Amino acid sequence: MKILPLFQILVAAAIAAPVPITAPPASPAPPARAKLSVVATTPDLASLAREIGGDAVDVKALAKPTEDPHFVDAKPSHIVTLNRADVLIDGGAELELGWLPALLESARNDKIAAGSPGRISASAGVQMMEVPSTFDRAKGDVHSLGNPHFLVDPVRVKLVIAQITEHLSLVDPQSAPMFAANRKKFEAALDLKLAEWQKLLAPYKGAKIATYHKDFVYLAERFGLNIVEELEPKPGIAPSPAHLAKVIGTMKSNNVKVILVQPFQNRKTAETVARQTDATVLDMPEQPGATKNTDSYIAMMDNLVGTLAKALGGAK
Ligand SMILES: [Zn+2]
Repeated sequence: MKILPLFQILVAAAIAAPVPITAPPASPAPPARAKLSVVATTPDLASLAREIGGDAVDVKALAKPTEDPHFVDAKPSHIVTLNRADVLIDGGAELELGWLPALLESARNDKIAAGSPGRISASAGVQMMEVPSTFDRAKGDVHSLGNPHFLVDPVRVKLVIAQITEHLSLVDPQSAPMFAANRKKFEAALDLKLAEWQKLLAPYKGAKIATYHKDFVYLAERFGLNIVEELEPKPGIAPSPAHLAKVIGTMKSNNVKVILVQPFQNRKTAETVARQTDATVLDMPEQPGATKNTDSYIAMMDNLVGTLAKALGGAK
């Protein structure tokens, strides 16, 4: 979205607006310490920030759970939110290249500039898959620095929460022991869940699957699934009839029975392919809150693994 000058003036006015004066508290109790304002680009990162930050943080996500993280609809409210943020967590690896840089420029907040303690780029501490040796942006591929959809791998998530803990502790040293304790607790919960998820998917090692976008490669690697085809010819490029014909052929010859889609992808196209291959379209939202009872990272992963295990079990 292009941001108009008038719009920037309105935003500047909103930022400069005085905080309303409220009556002093009646009790002599000391005022509560202000919570850190943590902004995450996507709900999955926001959920991780809540796990680590606990009561010391107030966390907001810019993208809706049902929005494509590559193509988020930039809004005036996002600029205000970023202007007031103490900490920004982004996925990095150009996941948000299409929308975040313009918002940050308008928000003018040094606390969350790249390289500041208040800026966490999740990809910085993560081993990336599919890093291209050469890259031609003209072809439209949106995975220019490698595949940025790594949060569906619980092991890589541990590296991300380590970074979140480190940065939050720099910004709010007083709360550092609490952040460290929260990290330990969340890691233990994640380890228990990972064992459970591995057990659930163990019978389907090597199962062949198709996906709409290249957004399940880390999940497939972690749990030993085999992605045979993507409906998109390149990440971010809509499927052409010629490409879909090739996908259908490959799916048939490999007997692929599931197609994984997210809420913002073209389900109709996936259903057309599914009809011709006798496959099932699986709703697999990677963002907490996209469907009922998936408000945390672990609940979201529970939903993904459960949906997959059920479908692959039925397909046997
Ligand atoms: Zn992508």
